[in-house]
Amino acid sequence: MDFELSEDQQMLQQAAREFAQSELVERAAEADRTEEFVADSIRLCGEMGFLGMSVPEEYGGSALGALGAVLVLTEINKACAATGTTVSVHNSLACESIVRFGSDELKQRYLPKLATGEMLGGYALSEAGSGSDAGSLVCKATQDGDDWILDGTKLWISHGSVCDLVVVFARTDADAGNKGITAFLVESAWEGYKPGKKEVKMGLRGSPTVELHLDKMRVPGSNVLGEVNRGFGIAMGLLDGGRIGIAGQGLGISEACLEAAVKFAGEREQFGKPIAAFGAVQEKIAEMATKLEAARLLTYRAASLKDAGKPHGREASMAKLEASRASNYCAKEALQIHGGAGYTRDFPVERYFRDARVTEIYEGTTEIQKLVIARSYLRP
Ligand SMILES: Cc1cc2nc3c(=O)[nH]c(=O)nc-3n(C[C@H](O)[C@H](O)[C@H](O)COP(=O)(O)OP(=O)(O)OC[C@H]3O[C@@H](n4cnc5c(N)ncnc54)[C@H](O)[C@@H]3O)c2cc1C
Repeated sequence: MDFELSEDQQMLQQAAREFAQSELVERAAEADRTEEFVADSIRLCGEMGFLGMSVPEEYGGSALGALGAVLVLTEINKACAATGTTVSVHNSLACESIVRFGSDELKQRYLPKLATGEMLGGYALSEAGSGSDAGSLVCKATQDGDDWILDGTKLWISHGSVCDLVVVFARTDADAGNKGITAFLVESAWEGYKPGKKEVKMGLRGSPTVELHLDKMRVPGSNVLGEVNRGFGIAMGLLDGGRIGIAGQGLGISEACLEAAVKFAGEREQFGKPIAAFGAVQEKIAEMATKLEAARLLTYRAASLKDAGKPHGREASMAKLEASRASNYCAKEALQIHGGAGYTRDFPVERYFRDARVTEIYEGTTEIQKLVIARSYLRP
């Protein structure tokens, strides 16, 4: 087993690090303060090729693979988690839905624009009554000739107010449970697409999370992804990849916390010496670093399996579970090491603490990851 990144991967990581540190860090603090969408950061990510990471080169993508994307997402999230969420959803849920399940026509029409950032992609599965239990969604699609009419309200849609294309999951058979859901590609410019209330959130404040009303929206039959009534499998299959992206977010936030904690511990003096000299502080640093590196190994493994075309659902859930918990642990301890200063907006650990929290909630809560992992062992 090779634990070293290749030369190309190291160069990609370095380029992403330099970009994120020089272009995203200051914008992250500003977006957190103003709650404005991180539009400039996303445009710059597009210029770097980071909006086409899951898009094949023939459609203008950078085709970095899952491990390449994790390396980039770690660096982006270390600088700005709101940008990281947007880039992750766009790549691993929106672009990938077309790469894996789209017709040739859909690939030609949308992938080149998504790869450059001319179009931004979103993912609309959740509803007020269906979060963890996604299969109980009620947003309805009714056939009308060759078209479908979508009607209903989605909830928690990341950048749903500013994106151009959304994968929407809707019920096409009222009595078939998970087997009555279809995936549609919907353009936000079409009549009937109405972003609603924007959530006021504790973190990720540069990533608008909105309600999305689909009001008798007409969608051509050619914009169905995969087969009618097979959308639930598509939703879950995409989330396997998405969870690797969120694991990358956990790694990035954890790294940011560890670096901030080490720096502060070396500078802050109490009892006549840097607080880094105290065993209690050293123990926190040791635990943070070890949890981060354990999560990194799980995440790289899940991404490598995906890149090899092997089953990776269990491993993606393990990576997401561990990396999201690591980021919350690291954020809590980094803040503690900063003492009172960590509780203020003068230091970024306060933002890391708020941003980390959601990694244990979206794309499957911590409890749901455990369910997925346990079922993968218990299933006969
Ligand atoms: C900032 C943000 C951005 C988001 N972006 C998107 C997006 O772009 N697109 C999208 O579709 N969704 C998005 N979501 C929704 C997100 O995926 C859901 O919030 C998540 O799946 C949990 O659903 P819920 O909030 O309805 O919680 P619930 O499902 O109601 O869960 C509440 C609690 O019950 C627990 N629970 C539920 N079922 C079980 C069970 N069987 N066993 C054990 N415990 C259980 C949960 O773990 C949780 O602790 C986003 C959410 C947030 C907060």
